[in-house]
Formats: sequence, structure tokens, C-alpha cells
Amino acid sequence: MSRLLRRPPPWVSYLLLGGTVALACLLTTGTLHDALLAAVGCSSAVAVAVGVRTHRPVQPRAWWAMAAGMLCWGTGDALYVLVYDVGGSQAYPAWPDAAYLLAYPFLGFSLLALARKARPGRDVEGVIDATVLSVGAGLLSWVFLLEPALRTLSQDLLGGAVSAVYPVADVFVLAMLVRLTSAAGARSPSFALLCSGTVMMLVADASYQVAYAAAGYDGLGLDPAWLLAYLLWGASALHPSMRRLSDPAPGTGHGELGGGRLVLLAGASLLAPATLTLQLLLQQHPSSWAVAITSAVLFLLVVTRMWTLLRRLRVQAEQLGDLARTDPLTGLLNRRSGDAVLARTSARCAQDGSDLVVVLLDLDHFKAFNDTYGHPAGDRLLVGAARAWGEVLAGAGGQLARWGGEEFLVVLVGLERAGVDAVLDRMRGVVPAGRTFSAGAARWNVGTGGVVDLAALVAAADEALYAAKAAGRDRTCWAPEPAGPVTGQDAGTSAVPAVPVRTAHRTAQPAPRG
Ligand code: GH3
Ligand code: MG
Ligand code: MG
Repeated sequence: MSRLLRRPPPWVSYLLLGGTVALACLLTTGTLHDALLAAVGCSSAVAVAVGVRTHRPVQPRAWWAMAAGMLCWGTGDALYVLVYDVGGSQAYPAWPDAAYLLAYPFLGFSLLALARKARPGRDVEGVIDATVLSVGAGLLSWVFLLEPALRTLSQDLLGGAVSAVYPVADVFVLAMLVRLTSAAGARSPSFALLCSGTVMMLVADASYQVAYAAAGYDGLGLDPAWLLAYLLWGASALHPSMRRLSDPAPGTGHGELGGGRLVLLAGASLLAPATLTLQLLLQQHPSSWAVAITSAVLFLLVVTRMWTLLRRLRVQAEQLGDLARTDPLTGLLNRRSGDAVLARTSARCAQDGSDLVVVLLDLDHFKAFNDTYGHPAGDRLLVGAARAWGEVLAGAGGQLARWGGEEFLVVLVGLERAGVDAVLDRMRGVVPAGRTFSAGAARWNVGTGGVVDLAALVAAADEALYAAKAAGRDRTCWAPEPAGPVTGQDAGTSAVPAVPVRTAHRTAQPAPRG
């Protein structure tokens, strides 16, 4: 109950009050009607100014420009009363037209400024979309409004010129509106009110111009649309969401091509053949040049748009590929990529006959480290170790992957056993925080011929790692080298126990685990 009795917010009050005056305007004729129209027009300028002062938008200049635009329209309406109703003039164009036309740049700048705030930097897709729609609308404007207006130039130079400027100005405002709708992702109430007001004005303008071009129509029937446009603009600025109207919605990217936008762009692209068809149906002289040029421009714009989409897809595919390949914590290759590296490297070894060595290494007592220093410190250790090992391995032509947890895979090619031990010792020397690791190594000698069973080779390395742990940690164990080709039976389930080796870095004796 109390909610119902509470005073409505200013934007609702404005709509109610302005709506009442607008209704009175529509119910009257002559000077009073025109004066009430001018009053509503000026009220929207005041509403925008009040909205800016109250809500302090992040883009005040855009809103002040809008207030100036509204003021121009209101002034135009007021001049209309003075020139035509009071002064009894019949002239066209007259002073009201100057005020009306001055409003368009202000409104266009305002929409553009809001769009640029929403999408700072380059927004190629937004510009292309806006251009497609404007070129389509521009063709309609040219064929049905500008050409007829220009034909009257010889009889009435100023009148024809002014009549030609209106549709051009409308197309400009439309372009800026499309720019804004494609840029601002947050669909706030203020945004909806602003866009509806602008669309209302464009529809009224276009209808007026078509009707005027056809029959010198006085436009009275379109006053509801203009009145509504004024009220919607005013309410848009009074709504509190105007403050962040140009905020991009979370998760919206540049140039996304949603269903609605696709339909709009397709419709705009079809305007050229549609215009030609309409002219043929109306048995008008077809505007062949205009249609041909527009079709070509639209085609090029659509192709450019496709190109930007393809480029975006390629970048996204690369990003996804990186994500799928790497381990997020250390940035190393993940286990899937480690498998791939192993497969690629073994194929290369089979071709050029080099030795392949697979090492699995595992940090010693890492759980205890986590328990003592905390998990974040454990993470930092993993990152530091990965970076340091990566540097060592880069010098040895080896490759490193995170196999899981605190276990890593090292792939080395063309190194003798002593060479591998030396590399592993260098890796031991760079583990952060004085920590140690155990390693299990398995080698495939291509000289023995045959096809490597990678799963068995890794299993052999894993078994050797287990032996290194059991022998007291901080050391490398080598899997026994099979006499023949490495197969599942030979390596993975070898009956020969893995042999622990003393490393150069540590001299601990083999000891049982635990
Ligand atoms: P051992 O010497 O036998 O290898 O002992 P350990 O404690 O290192 O071995 P265990 O496999 O029991 O524990 C591995 C620990 O590694 C358990 C887990 O908390 C830790 N760990 C695994 N992945 C991560 C990680 O991404 N970040 C951190 N901080 N710890 C991890
Ligand atoms: Mg461990
Ligand atoms: Mg482990």
C-alpha cells in the first residue's frame, strides 16, 4: 500500500506530466497545439539537463550535447509558432528549419560519444555494421527522398537543398545509433528509452519526408511520434541508469554477431535489390546507378565483415589451443601435450636413429613442504622449478611437461647416459628452496631396431622413479635397457629391478622407502 502511495521516480513523473501535456497538444489545433508541442520539446532539453546534474553520468559531454540537440528541436518548434502561427508566413524553408537542422549534429555527436565511451579504441566491426545499415538506409533515402528533392532544385534552390539535408541528417543519426547499439552492451532502461526515442524520431522524420515529397503533407498526423520521442529522450536522462549507459555488459565482446544483428545486416544488404524491385513494381524509372554502386559497397562491406570474423575465429582458435596445450599454473606443456611431444620425438628418433630418453621426475616430500609453508608457497615452488628446469633443458635441447601434481616429464634426444645424468644434475642444482627431486629414466635405443612402445617406455621410467624413491630419494634410477626393441613385455613389466645410480650432486646411498 505504502509502495503505491510513494512518489514515483522523476523519470516516471516526467513521463506522466509530459504525457498529459502531449495529450492536450494532440487534442488541440492551431497555435495552442503548436505551442504545446514546443513546450514538450523544450521540456526534454530541461529533463536532460536535470538528469545530468542529478546523476552525474560518466560521459557528461555526450549528455550535454543531447540537451543542446533537444533545445534546438524545442526552439525550432517555438520558432514554428512565431513564424507560421503568429507571423502567418507560408515560406519554406524558414528559421525553424535552421534550428531543426542544428539539432542533428548535436544528437549524432551525443550518440557517437556514448558509443566511443562504451568501446574505447578501435571497433572495426561496429563501424562496418553501422556503415552497412547507413548505406542501405542511405539508398532508400536517395531514391525516395533525395532524388525528388534535388529535382526541385531548379525551381527552388534553397527549399530543395534544405529538403535534401534532412534525410542525410537522419541517415547520419541512424549510423550513430547503430554504432551505439553495437558498442554499449549494458541494456539499461535509460539505454532502451534513448534508443526508442531516437528510433521514434527517425521513423517520424522519414514518414514525414516521404509524405511531404509525395503530397506536400503538413505532418500533423506524425506529431504523436515526435512528442513521444521528446518524452522518451527526457525520461532516458532522468532514469538513474543513465549514469552508466555506455557500460559494456559483462562478457560481451567486440563485434559479436548475434541473431538479431545478423538479421539486421542481412536486411540492410538486401535493401539494394529490394529498392530496385520496388521501383520496377511501381513502374518508376529505376535508379540503376545508385542501386549498382550501393550493391557493390554493401558486398565489399559484408566481405570485410566476414574477414574480421574469420580473423577473430583464428585468434580464438589459437587461444583455445594454447589453453588446451598448457598447464595453467606453470605455463609448461600439460600431460596431453607431453604425450604428443613424446610421439613426435620418437617418430623423429625412428627416422634419424638418435636415442630417446624419457625421464619422470617427482619432487621429494612435497606434501610436507605444502604442509609447512602452505599451498601457495608450494605453487610458487612449482612455478620456480618449472622455469629453472626449462632454462636448463633449453640448453640441452630437452623438452619439459607437467605430468601431474609435482611430477614432470623430461624428453631428451641423442644423449648418452652420462649426458642425461649431467643434465639432471644441473636441474637438481636449480630447484628453489633447496628442495630435491627423484627421477626415473628409461632409454630407447633405435639402434636395436623395432617400433617403440611409448606407454611401456613411460611405464619403465615410472618404475625407475619408484625405485629412486625407494632407494632414499634425491637420485636418478635408470630402467634396465632391454636387449631388443622396447615393447610392453620388455620394459614395462621387466623382471629386472630398476638400478639406482648415485648422482654427482648427491651421494646418498640407496635405502628402502619409508
Ligand atoms: P614423495 O617424496 O614420496 O614424492 O612425497 P610427496 O609428499 O612429494 O608425495 P605425494 O605424492 O604424497 O604428495 C604430492 C603432493 O603434491 C600432494 C599435493 O598436495 C601436492 N601437489 C600436487 N599438485 C600441487 C599443486 O599444484 N600445488 C601445490 N602447492 N601442491 C601440489
Ligand atoms: Mg613427491
Ligand atoms: Mg608425486
